Amino acid sequence: MTQRKNKVVIFLGPPGAGKGTQAERLAREGGLTKISTGDILRDHVARGTELGRRVKPILDAGQLVPDDILIALIRDRLAGMEPVRVIFDGFPRTTAQAEALDMLLEELGAPVSAVPLLEVPDEVLIERIVERGRQAVASGQTPRADDTEEVARKRQQVYREQTQPLIDYYGGRSHLRHVDGVGTMDEVYARIMGTMP
Ligand code: ADP
Repeated sequence: MTQRKNKVVIFLGPPGAGKGTQAERLAREGGLTKISTGDILRDHVARGTELGRRVKPILDAGQLVPDDILIALIRDRLAGMEPVRVIFDGFPRTTAQAEALDMLLEELGAPVSAVPLLEVPDEVLIERIVERGRQAVASGQTPRADDTEEVARKRQQVYREQTQPLIDYYGGRSHLRHVDGVGTMDEVYARIMGTMP
């Protein structure tokens, strides 16, 4: 029954905060589609598409891909979706992206439902990212090219400069929910659920 209703959740938080893992579970349990822009871009890189070739150096350097590319990707994903039941992981990352998303959602008649912000101290974040890179190597997988300490610090800086302003953007629209992101995956998940409308 509730499955018919629009629901739009935006996960905010620094790189390494656990957005992807938590969004995955919330999507599964809530009947929502997870849209992870990092995954979409990495998939293009892996497939060697034209877009992938264009964005690879940007990803590898920990910089942001231009807004127009991201906005077009999201517009495509949302086109024809009915009802709109999505979790955004890694988007929006700039104020321009947030404004474009608001316009898209307005066209679709699907307003933002909630914006959980996962909060984790900087040093824990770097540890998690470097550990994720190590784990990938240990299990015979190719680690993400940007999961090194140097690039992780760059991604943190980019987050502070370009994405943190979104905390005020969504705070001003009273969608923002602060969530302590330190703890087990289950603990953090329970906290997120506690903030959902
Ligand atoms: P993180 O673990 O850093 O949150 P993501 O998987 O979300 O990683 O993103 C990885 C990279 O993909 C970013 O560093 C950036 O280069 C690119 N990217 C992902 N989403 C966006 C976006 N919304 N705008 C611009 N670049 C993005």
